[in-house]
Amino acid sequence: MTAVRMTAWQEPPEVVRIPVPEPGPGEVLVKVAGAGVCHSDLHVMEWPAGTLPYDLPFTLGHETAGRVHTLGPGTRDSGLREGDAVLVYGPWGCGICPSCARGAENYCHRAAELKAAGGGLGADGGMAEYMIVPSPRLLTPLGDLDPGTAAALADAALTPYHAVKRSLHRLVPGTAAVVIGVGGLGHMAVQLLKALSPADVIAVDTSPDKLDLAAEAGADHRVPAGESAAGRIRDLTGGLGAALVLDCVGADATMATAAGAAAVEADITVVGLAGGTLPFRYGTLPWEVSVSIPYWGTRPELAEVAALARAGRIRPHLETHPLADAVEVYRRLREGRVAGRAVLVP
Ligand code: NAD
Ligand code: ZN
Ligand code: ZN
Repeated sequence: MTAVRMTAWQEPPEVVRIPVPEPGPGEVLVKVAGAGVCHSDLHVMEWPAGTLPYDLPFTLGHETAGRVHTLGPGTRDSGLREGDAVLVYGPWGCGICPSCARGAENYCHRAAELKAAGGGLGADGGMAEYMIVPSPRLLTPLGDLDPGTAAALADAALTPYHAVKRSLHRLVPGTAAVVIGVGGLGHMAVQLLKALSPADVIAVDTSPDKLDLAAEAGADHRVPAGESAAGRIRDLTGGLGAALVLDCVGADATMATAAGAAAVEADITVVGLAGGTLPFRYGTLPWEVSVSIPYWGTRPELAEVAALARAGRIRPHLETHPLADAVEVYRRLREGRVAGRAVLVP
């Protein structure tokens, strides 16, 4: 089968032929319908050898949807049936520690002992025709949703869902929420905020095209990124600032905007991995602001995201490409030329 693989650090991936894997005891073989192209892969490719504990090579793709193809030995009574449409829950934990037991495998207590963070992140992922998933518990049924258009739910939607959900108590009528960076995650964040809260949604991006996408996704206001962005957000919020600033970039400049745009008692939630720094001392932030850096989301939350999509409340904006074009698609993503999420389709 064709697979998109990381074969060397700080190099583009390679499109190669490898054998179709066989599911071992407890495992499930999924026939991939689509694998999302996440900006995190660009960071993984840019970071030097030794930054991540993964062995090479491995197949990329940590945002995957497909159909159950073969139930491995011991999984026939799991409740899954061959042909079922499924999302692959991405962060693979040990399955039994207290975090995993409540479905928060993104915060597995034993993460440091595990060789991979998940499929596409150290273990073989979804940018291939087939993918092994180590346990039925890591598959979320999609019901009648088409797996060909669902991959982006597994990360581009799940990550902002988790990030937004923890702040919903702040997003009462009359408040505002800011989304900085309206790419794969950001355009889903805008939709999720509109679906889950009465807050006014303000989108910030450097690109006018991305701001158009934000408006399409339901944003109430668009603000060009830059030094004047925080002031513009204060104007839009009657001087108060926003109750939540979700930074889907995470650079020095966007965190400065977040600090300048946050209201008293706001949440500044940074999901972008650009490596910026937010100065944190008296005077740099409004009173009682909380700053957090959440990672991905939980298994129950992925089921909630799937339910929102089934109900038509969120819908990823997609462009699809063949696996063979992976290197070019990653280049387009790096250059900011992907609208919404790019999904590789085997
Ligand atoms: P993307 O490339 O699809 O989107 C990034 C968006 O940010 C683009 O619209 C771009 O125009 C905009 N942007 C870039 N610089 C900007 C700036 N200075 N000001 C305003 N907007 C700017 O990326 P993505 O796949 O949505 O991922 C976003 C970030 O989130 C990445 O850093 C990725 O690694 C990270 N991520 C984190 C998690 C997590 O669990 N914490 C999960 C997935 C992705
Ligand atoms: Zn990702
Ligand atoms: Zn665990």
